[in-house]
Amino acid sequence: MTVLGSLNMDISVTVPRLPGPGATVVGSAARFTPGGKGANQAVAAARLGAEVRMVGCVGDDEFGRLLLAALHAEAVNADGVRAVAGIPTGLALIAVDDAGENLIVVAPGANHEAGPPEVAAAAAGPRDILVISAEIPVPAITAVLARARETPCVLNLAPAPETPEQAAALTSNGPDWLVVNESEAAAVLGWPVSGLAAAGRAASELAAAGRAAAGRAAAGRAASELAAAEHIAGAGLAAAGPRYAVVTAGAQGAALAGPDGIHTVQGFAVEAVDTVGAGDTFVGALAVALAAGVPAPQAVRAAAAAGAAAVTRHGAQTAMPRSGDILTATGVTWPVG
Ligand code: ADP
Repeated sequence: MTVLGSLNMDISVTVPRLPGPGATVVGSAARFTPGGKGANQAVAAARLGAEVRMVGCVGDDEFGRLLLAALHAEAVNADGVRAVAGIPTGLALIAVDDAGENLIVVAPGANHEAGPPEVAAAAAGPRDILVISAEIPVPAITAVLARARETPCVLNLAPAPETPEQAAALTSNGPDWLVVNESEAAAVLGWPVSGLAAAGRAASELAAAGRAAAGRAAAGRAASELAAAEHIAGAGLAAAGPRYAVVTAGAQGAALAGPDGIHTVQGFAVEAVDTVGAGDTFVGALAVALAAGVPAPQAVRAAAAAGAAAVTRHGAQTAMPRSGDILTATGVTWPVG
């Protein structure tokens, strides 16, 4: 599989409580760990046995070299990662409180240099599955989606698009799968999404936009579904939206909407110590399962199990589970299918 996305050095500090505006909170000693949504998803997939190519940009600096070394250590092929001269490697400043809640500031640096070379590298990859996340420039994402039409594509719209135009640009080339968390779903749809039931409705609206845009027969479609599709189209979404939409809902689980309707997956009960990287683990695991031909609902359940296992340990990539970790945390056996 190919993963196109960001690479960051994560600098994490544990704090007694998250600081508000203007506040200073004294935390633990800083931990330096490899991160970035793209690299996280690549590592999550590699730990579950996938052969992974990473495509993206780092700076030609020490952090960049550390990130490349970390990918090599995880057996991720990093030939598609370009070291850009004169631009710093991406950084994420992460505070985690005692409850496992987090606050993150990202300085994109070299990630914003992703452009034609990365588009070409991503589009030239193996055809099994392409995973894209949104911490890189919108034009690079839309160009890859347009060029890699024969490859099933999972678009993780994270972080949320800042404008309806961005949302439209990112989804209008028709990714097969759209994955968002509650706040990203809320940003795209324009209504608050909280909890599994709302996640189901949100996933349904996102997939309905895809179905409507794909021009399926309008006959038989419920008026409410049409209204939802029009609302989303009005919000700027999708000339050819996703076939499947997934909305993750933290500890509550995840909802899937697609041609076969809505499926909800209850969250696995685990003791969460750090939720950083749960979504990235979910996306990487989902891609592995889909590439292996696992049907959509089972793939989402397996991804939710991987996400649950990830929150039982600190860090992003450091917390990403292998199959044995998922079995221990959730009782779910990998590989699935
Ligand atoms: P993000 O990290 O993008 O905010 P979520 O918090 O929704 O994404 O987490 C992604 C998935 O990871 C969830 O759908 C769920 O399956 C799993 N997960 C996250 N947090 C927990 C938790 N506290 N307990 C169990 N599973 C969790």
